[in-house]
Amino acid sequence: MRRAADVRTRGHGGGLKVGIVGAGVSGLAAARALHQAGIAVTLFEKSRGVGGRLATRRVGSYTFDTGATSIAPRGMGIESVMLKELDTTELIEVTKPIYTHVNLRVQPGDSSRNGVPRYAYRSGCNHLAKLLAEGLDVRLNTQVDQLKEVDGGYEIENDRFDRLILTPPIPQTSLLLWSIGQSRPVANARYRSCITLMLGYDKPLPDTPYHAIIDVEQRHPMTWVCLESTKSPGRAPEGGSAVLVQLSPGYSHDHYQNEDDVVLKDVLPYVAQLFGPEFREPVEIDTKRWKYSQPETVAVFESVNRDQPGVILAGDGLSAGRVERAFESGLMAANLILEGQ
Ligand SMILES: Cc1cc2nc3c(=O)[nH]c(=O)nc-3n(C[C@H](O)[C@H](O)[C@H](O)COP(=O)(O)OP(=O)(O)OC[C@H]3O[C@@H](n4cnc5c(N)ncnc54)[C@H](O)[C@@H]3O)c2cc1C
Repeated sequence: MRRAADVRTRGHGGGLKVGIVGAGVSGLAAARALHQAGIAVTLFEKSRGVGGRLATRRVGSYTFDTGATSIAPRGMGIESVMLKELDTTELIEVTKPIYTHVNLRVQPGDSSRNGVPRYAYRSGCNHLAKLLAEGLDVRLNTQVDQLKEVDGGYEIENDRFDRLILTPPIPQTSLLLWSIGQSRPVANARYRSCITLMLGYDKPLPDTPYHAIIDVEQRHPMTWVCLESTKSPGRAPEGGSAVLVQLSPGYSHDHYQNEDDVVLKDVLPYVAQLFGPEFREPVEIDTKRWKYSQPETVAVFESVNRDQPGVILAGDGLSAGRVERAFESGLMAANLILEGQ
């Protein structure tokens, strides 16, 4: 796999124009690398903000990372960008480890998982996306429903581009490819769904040695419990606490269409079991349903992008469902364009 250090920063783009669908981490990484190399880039993003699954939501006075809850750069390209190139005022290292749980019996976690530095941003992990997007041409609230081939290039929203990079989850990208009669070897790309609960309390959490717990075997409905206010001070008002719960793939799949009340009735007793009966009644509640949360299978970047240099696929469906991996796939897409100029 190519690394960030390999991305060339040539001084000019020779008039090449690149259109990128999706302003999540991978799209932003690609756009940033191309922009730095002097290439004109436009990002099209269907949402009203950048970041995709690097998402933060404010609920009353509480703040939750509803997608990725922390970032572990693991020495990949995103590391120097986060630590050296971008503003670090909001950056915090998450020092408390991740523990595991089996049926809510909590025990110390995997030392290799906890041995790597892990970061978040005070105001929410989405802040990283905002930093990455600085200086880029991002068209928000712009859903691309189809692509069009025009005289050796492609058209999106009446703009012509020489190359495209598509970064939505693979099932959505496949629809775009079909609109220009293309397909790629990604047929089996499957994503887990995930129901996320945001719970705000007006009391502090008990002191824990961890910032998050994971049910590695995903048997319990609460696969991931992240103590947002432990991870990052300021996520809850003074004297309060914020807890984020990601429900297991199985539970999320089976209850995806259920009303929030049904899900909360199932899950809140488990939160009380973990932290005490006073945690049965949050003062703020919100939910988020991710249809495509993280890929179950990953397609191979090189084989997917071997024969069609005009349209490059990137994103975590080609790299693994992690922020640092999604970022890397964006760099690889940028690199293909820079190499092929
Ligand atoms: C619940 C959850 C928990 C996670 N936890 C972690 C974690 O703790 N650590 C970690 O490293 N990773 C975690 N991840 C994974 C990580 O968030 C993703 O792997 C990464 O953010 C994916 O980035 P991406 O750019 O590939 O895709 P996305 O972030 O999905 O970006 C794609 C963008 O394309 C846009 N889009 C889609 N279709 C269109 C269209 N037709 N037109 C225009 N725009 C479009 C979307 O709105 C989106 O902004 C988690 C993910 C979820 C959902």
